[in-house]
Amino acid sequence: VTSPAITGASGEDVREMAPPPERMTSSHLWPTSTGRRDPGPVDLYISKLAEEKMRNHALSTARERKEVMGFMLGSVYEHEGARHVLVRDVATAGLEATDVHVRFSQDAFEDLFAQLDDAGFRYILVGWYHSHPSYGCFMSSIDIQTQRTFFNRPYHSALVIDPVKREIDVFKLSGGKVESRPFLVYWEPFQDPYGIGGRRKWR
Ligand SMILES: [Zn+2]
Repeated sequence: VTSPAITGASGEDVREMAPPPERMTSSHLWPTSTGRRDPGPVDLYISKLAEEKMRNHALSTARERKEVMGFMLGSVYEHEGARHVLVRDVATAGLEATDVHVRFSQDAFEDLFAQLDDAGFRYILVGWYHSHPSYGCFMSSIDIQTQRTFFNRPYHSALVIDPVKREIDVFKLSGGKVESRPFLVYWEPFQDPYGIGGRRKWR
């Protein structure tokens, strides 16, 4: 495995950058558990590109109720003493999708790193996503085990998406337990994915 840019996701190389401005962020259009109550401070921003890829990936096998999964790639930043994570893109190399439950294949990480190495990626692995076609967004015991084994850093997230019910949620480990993680979708200045100019009017 030769991709220190990914494997070395130690959080030691955290650069200073402000989170995306409010006018370039939006709640996800699909319901989330955190969206139904005061979400508290947000430290996770998912790019429109990554969000669309994950949603389309999940939707592509919704009819046959097949789960999909992949990795979330991005960056960790610091601003005014607080850290936030940007999910910039996703990758699905070497992953198995079954109608029972998705799992990481033994070679998944090596395939991913090889592919990213070829692509010259500089992103770090900030989490994973998978779908629960028709049975809602939660972390199963296998999901929690996966999280504890591979994604146990503070910046690691697990995104679960139900393409049939059209729900989405993100989870993280906190003190070894699973918690919902509030998130926002963000886009670059030239994009306006929902045609609504963000949550607030442009100023
Ligand atoms: Zn699951």
